[in-house]
Amino acid sequence: MSNTPVVVVGAGPVGLTAALLLARRGVQVLVLERQPAPYGQPRAVHLDDEALRALADAGVADDFLRIGRPVRGLRLLDGRLRTLAEFRRSAAAGAHGWPQGSMFHQPDLEDLLLAAVGRTPGITLRAGAELVDLARDDRGAALTVLDRASGTRSPLAAAAVLGCDGAHSTVRRLVGARMRDLGRPDRWLVADLRSAAPLPVWPGVHQVCDPHRAATFMPVTGDRYRWEARLRPGEMPEELAARLPALLAPFGAAGAEVVRVAEYTYRAQVADRWRSGRVLLAGDAAHLTPPFIGQGLGLGLRDVHQLAWKLAAVLTGTADEALLDTHQAEREPHARAMVRLALLVGRLMTGGGRGAAGLRRGVLAVAGRVPAVAAFATDSRTPPLRRGPLVARRGRAGRRLAGTLLPRAPVRVGDRGCPVDDVLGSGTARLRLLAPGRLAVRPEGGPETEVVDVGGALTAWLRRGRAGSVVVRPDRIVRSATRADAERRPRDPAAGEGGPAS
Ligand SMILES: Cc1cc2nc3c(=O)[nH]c(=O)nc-3n(C[C@H](O)[C@H](O)[C@H](O)COP(=O)(O)OP(=O)(O)OC[C@H]3O[C@@H](n4cnc5c(N)ncnc54)[C@H](O)[C@@H]3O)c2cc1C
Repeated sequence: MSNTPVVVVGAGPVGLTAALLLARRGVQVLVLERQPAPYGQPRAVHLDDEALRALADAGVADDFLRIGRPVRGLRLLDGRLRTLAEFRRSAAAGAHGWPQGSMFHQPDLEDLLLAAVGRTPGITLRAGAELVDLARDDRGAALTVLDRASGTRSPLAAAAVLGCDGAHSTVRRLVGARMRDLGRPDRWLVADLRSAAPLPVWPGVHQVCDPHRAATFMPVTGDRYRWEARLRPGEMPEELAARLPALLAPFGAAGAEVVRVAEYTYRAQVADRWRSGRVLLAGDAAHLTPPFIGQGLGLGLRDVHQLAWKLAAVLTGTADEALLDTHQAEREPHARAMVRLALLVGRLMTGGGRGAAGLRRGVLAVAGRVPAVAAFATDSRTPPLRRGPLVARRGRAGRRLAGTLLPRAPVRVGDRGCPVDDVLGSGTARLRLLAPGRLAVRPEGGPETEVVDVGGALTAWLRRGRAGSVVVRPDRIVRSATRADAERRPRDPAAGEGGPAS
């Protein structure tokens, strides 16, 4: 691999995670961040356990769990704050060994990612360095970087560029990609609060389903709370902000310290082109979603989890450049599905019309008529990736399991207990059911290891999928699944069944 670094533009959570994931695969990374210091403002407060797989691969899942707390559920309230429905979430470990959802304070996540980047060899972070121009060339891209303190511009060669530079992405503009709207913009006022004395509220998310004043209130972590409300057409944020104490009073938060109030325009958008040669978009640069299902950052983390191994394979020459085409092909349909779900859930919870009327009719109506709300509130699984060169959604087992995430279940190897991820290695791996509770794992190029399926979660998962074996990609997504009765025929595991090896 050449010494020319991959340049990650943007030291937001997606860019920093991308840097860690690439460095763990031996790739030299230079992160450019135009601000002299981290953004530091609270935005995301929820992350699901699937997206946490990306942070685990980046080596920071334990740090994340220390700054987060399990999501406790969702309560739907009417305009007078009477409970219409409640969906509880267990704090117990789900399929991936962690709570299905975690609340957190985004600046805490950014701090821990920055600390991890600082101690990881192979990553350089240049703060106060803004990407201002970019030209693709045969070897990657030639960049122009502005040092914001001195005002000097300097050239920089990049083996590849990851545009993780957020909603107003410069990289997106420079490669001529454009955002496409999936829905109308929606203006909200967001207030971050602190209260030294714990507020007397239910620990989950409160969603006020009042089309005249949709609002959200939730405890975040520690002494932090978040309140958000939709601005009416023509309403000035200052007007609503002036009424904050009265609006917070029903939650017992009238006396809380208001740390920050900001107006946000939530957009539902997806970029039309995510790749131009070795210049690729990820995170908010590639898609924006209203936060109703807390997925904006989660989508970005999935982007870079699924991209880092592909880019590393291309840079080491073990895969063809065409592998990078699968980035948009795989991620865009998934992102679109999640943005649409966020729009739907937002409309059902906070809009007028039939869905909202159903919500207001009571608990049974909610559970029966609004399955999308119930599903997202109680289950963190997101749609499988679509069929493609790296996802063989064929056959009975393939249609059930390919494109989904392998559960991060506990296994035992000899007398050592660990999550199954630790036995899979960093490449493609095959997992085969030997007998109930006994599996064989074969990492790419390595010997087969027999493991005990502690608790039987993997056995049950394979059986539900009617599969006897699966080939798992480096991002732990199932590439192909083979029927249990096909196991009698020996196959070449490394080849998988999903097209070109990567
Ligand atoms: C109120 C609110 C609530 C939200 N709630 C949730 C939630 O609960 N769950 C969830 O998953 N998501 C949520 N989100 C979305 C989440 O915050 C974003 O998706 C996430 O921050 C995107 O991360 P990113 O790294 O892609 O972009 P950013 O965090 O925007 O980082 C981009 C970085 O790039 C830098 N940059 C930009 N241009 C350049 C340049 N030319 N050169 C160098 N550097 C540059 C910027 O300074 C910035 O540091 C919420 C958002 C808001 C506003």
